[in-house]
Amino acid sequence: MQRLYIFDTTLRDGEQSLGITLNVKEKLEIGHQLVKLGVDIIEAGFPASSPGDLESVRTLAAELKGVTICGLTRAVPQDIDICAEALRKAENPRIHTGIGVSPVHMEKKLGLNPEQTLEQAVFAVKYAKRYVNDVEFYAEDAFRSDPAFLVKVIEEAIKAGATVVNIPDTVGYANPWEYGELIDFVIKNVRNIDKAVVSVHCHNDLGMATANALAGIRAGARQVEVTINGIGERAGNTSFEEVVMAIYTRRDGYGVKNNIKVYEISATSRLVSRITGVAVPDYKAIVGANAYSHASGIHQDGVLKDRETYEIIKPETIGVPQNIISLTARSGRHALKYRLEELGYKVEGDQLNDVYKRFLHLADSKQEVFDQDLYVLMGDPEGKASNILLQSMAISTSGIETATATVTLEIEGRKFTDAACGNGPVNALFNTIDRMTGNDAMLEDYTLKSVTRGSKALGEATVKLRYNDGRLVVGKGFSTDIIEASAKAYINALAKQNHKFSKSQA
Ligand SMILES: [Zn+2]
Repeated sequence: MQRLYIFDTTLRDGEQSLGITLNVKEKLEIGHQLVKLGVDIIEAGFPASSPGDLESVRTLAAELKGVTICGLTRAVPQDIDICAEALRKAENPRIHTGIGVSPVHMEKKLGLNPEQTLEQAVFAVKYAKRYVNDVEFYAEDAFRSDPAFLVKVIEEAIKAGATVVNIPDTVGYANPWEYGELIDFVIKNVRNIDKAVVSVHCHNDLGMATANALAGIRAGARQVEVTINGIGERAGNTSFEEVVMAIYTRRDGYGVKNNIKVYEISATSRLVSRITGVAVPDYKAIVGANAYSHASGIHQDGVLKDRETYEIIKPETIGVPQNIISLTARSGRHALKYRLEELGYKVEGDQLNDVYKRFLHLADSKQEVFDQDLYVLMGDPEGKASNILLQSMAISTSGIETATATVTLEIEGRKFTDAACGNGPVNALFNTIDRMTGNDAMLEDYTLKSVTRGSKALGEATVKLRYNDGRLVVGKGFSTDIIEASAKAYINALAKQNHKFSKSQA
């Protein structure tokens, strides 16, 4: 069986669609999980696009081992220079450069004729090649290009040294059979195609990204570009978990193998959702909360008799834990450690003590602690090094409209208490925190949901703060008290940005 390379672009195509910039720490956390998951290439960012992106690519290149780290560039020297510098410490660096090849891209976007486009493509590959051996060339909007011209560009790019050639359906316009035919056409007509790996990159505008990518693989592509949970520009990129599990479940149809540890899929999906603040829809294939539940009586009956009647994938295959025993305040450190290990978390020593303390606090307030609670507990930023912590809070309401919040925060090791009003408890709370911290970012979005079952369910609050310079920061907070969860989420967003607190306010 031939090897299919999995190219993850969650941190580039995915991130650029979020309207938020993930910080280096967040990108690194996702990066480590992608390595654990077994992806071959991580596209870590577009270094020339911002100093933050440059810093992230540089850090991931230095820290992540056993994986190729890739940076995106346009076909211009300064992008490639910056990218090469960002990748300097990578074990296996790759520069991903390219240019638009469809008539609309060449004429309208670049103002170039086909000859000039070809020239610039060749120049960019050669230029990148001076820095790294592994150069991927993308022919942007390839699906809407003239196939004869595409073949010529690809052939010249390979001649110039490209090791991978990416044939994207940039706008998500292709039908699966057409996309398969295009890949087939490239493979049959590019004379030096044996010197490069063909890559597919599809978008989901018509809901066909997965189908198109798979059609490309069937036609002979040996690299697929994907994102976790399918996040990406507009309707999204190709969903990692769908492609990988389609190939896993229907091995007979593709004749390719890969290095993915499928039991890490569920954990990766949750991590990316938590860090990006993009929820996974319940009905999402493979990783949706509903993907393995059988609601109708007939289906339930069938599954109880034999799971295969209605189940094509066992949830535990992708790491959805099946054991639904719950822990309580009497469960002891050992039981907690054991359960966390089953869920994929290794905790020892001080970290275990810290988690156990928070576990007891949670168990006191909700009696039964389920796996979902433990995920939240492990992802809960409170207690980690943060320059701002919630000490206590109280809300009083008078009449229907007004509320007063009294909040005590520990800011950089010192305690401060203040109070403010608002039209409702959450508004009063946020106003108070703003006053104490001097925060002037706008609250752009605020959502609450229950993450576990029962009346003592754990609530998850998500807060999105928009800063003056356009950055959007996501904060999350968890508590059995939704007001407290909201306060924690707000503070988490502030802490993430290393908000400089104006002491005079406090
Ligand atoms: Zn894309």
